[in-house]
Amino acid sequence: MIITCAVPFASYITLYSAMIFPSSRIEALTQLGGFIPLAALYARDRNHVKPGHASVSRLSPAIRHRLITEQEVVEAVLRDHPFGRVQKFIQEVYWRRYWKSWLALRPQVWSDYLKSLSGIHDSLVFRSIENAQSGNAIIDHFIRELVTTGYLHNHARMWFAAWWVHEARLPWQAGAAFFFRHLLDGDPASNTLSWRWVAGLQTPGKTYLARRSNLEKYMDPEQISSLSNGLAAFENPQSLPPELVGKSPMTCTNEQVDTLTLSDGDGLWIHEEDLAVENSPLAKHVFSTVLVTADVDSWKNHAFPNSKIDWISAALHDAGIRAEQHWQVSTRVETKVAHVNMILQWAKFHNLQQVVTLRPDVGPLNDSLPALHASLVDAGIRLILIDRPEDLQIRQFASGGFFQFWKLTQKKLFADSIASVSSKPQQLWIDFPQ
Ligand SMILES: Cc1cc2nc3c(=O)[nH]c(=O)nc-3n(C[C@H](O)[C@H](O)[C@H](O)COP(=O)(O)OP(=O)(O)OC[C@H]3O[C@@H](n4cnc5c(N)ncnc54)[C@H](O)[C@@H]3O)c2cc1C
Repeated sequence: MIITCAVPFASYITLYSAMIFPSSRIEALTQLGGFIPLAALYARDRNHVKPGHASVSRLSPAIRHRLITEQEVVEAVLRDHPFGRVQKFIQEVYWRRYWKSWLALRPQVWSDYLKSLSGIHDSLVFRSIENAQSGNAIIDHFIRELVTTGYLHNHARMWFAAWWVHEARLPWQAGAAFFFRHLLDGDPASNTLSWRWVAGLQTPGKTYLARRSNLEKYMDPEQISSLSNGLAAFENPQSLPPELVGKSPMTCTNEQVDTLTLSDGDGLWIHEEDLAVENSPLAKHVFSTVLVTADVDSWKNHAFPNSKIDWISAALHDAGIRAEQHWQVSTRVETKVAHVNMILQWAKFHNLQQVVTLRPDVGPLNDSLPALHASLVDAGIRLILIDRPEDLQIRQFASGGFFQFWKLTQKKLFADSIASVSSKPQQLWIDFPQ
């Protein structure tokens, strides 16, 4: 199911033009630096949905594509605040880590979602909603913001998804696909699992309903007064009974870990799932060449708009520049050609024996690995997938619910993290630009 949005949203461009999402690491670090003083107010202010969204970090596109890592964000915040004052913010970053870890242990949830999605056909109802003609002024407002900026506040995402599932009674998979297409932070784990949570599949039987009182409390009063005829739909929400699904079993473990043996003939492949490779275990490895690719096939399949393609392409170019500086070898950035063929051609051209990369998380790029692997093996080239230790360390904790995960990660890792931050006040990586 592919729907594209054709409504011109000029007024939103003016309203949200100040919202720029950093597409380079240095800009992301600058934005993080600007947010750190506000992190202590986050627990109080984060739920309010106001134009500009100044009370939340707006770092999600940068974190999702790992221009900066979750760990860097947490350590930077802890450097300036005691844990208790910023706990809520850190907990939200850990929601992201939880969803990623949870899906990594249950990748079939992603493939089941794709399968269901392929059985849902485009319809006039989807088209009119996605063109901001849903018949509800508040929902149309959020659609315009999403399509224009590539971002929605968390609360708006929850209200929108609840309306889509429980009021409009549309398949949650189609709503998730709409978000995935337009959100700059569109993420297989956070997005799919959040939609499942709203629909009552993630915590079986427990749905999320958006209520009028909640919108009135947290939406900007000026904005809501001009959209107030949309409130009636949230007056008396009735939950759509969730589909009957069993508990999703864990089908993957941490066991399939590649190890990197040094070889002079290695090439480094950088992709949009992790763009801070020079801040990973690969930093010290010697590479003879670097290739940065884009997952253009999946961009097409999911009908990403040009604005999102431009944003990811800019982030890929930034990764290429940093890689060239770091490894001092020829670096090619290719954002127009499908990556599987591109990698094969590049590996052959440079006579590579091994192509090394950071393992992409569950999602479209990961789905392309079997084809890539097969084409490289045919040419006698090995594909080595390296995991970040910080991801592997916490994955095992996502066997149950979030609060169990949070307890285990806090106990095991925060002690280390807080200790490392307090013993090393000047972290090398966090050299904030002025
Ligand atoms: C239906 C729905 C779909 C969503 N889809 C995505 C998605 O595709 N990609 C995505 O990154 N997030 C998604 N989220 C989670 C959340 O809405 C966004 O991460 C958050 O709004 C990003 O804004 P921010 O960077 O200002 O967050 P902040 O409030 O500043 O939080 C800091 C960081 O913590 C993480 N985070 C915060 N809240 C959550 C959360 N509830 N779940 C997971 N991680 C969180 C993000 O990485 C975020 O950048 C979704 C939530 C819902 C309800």
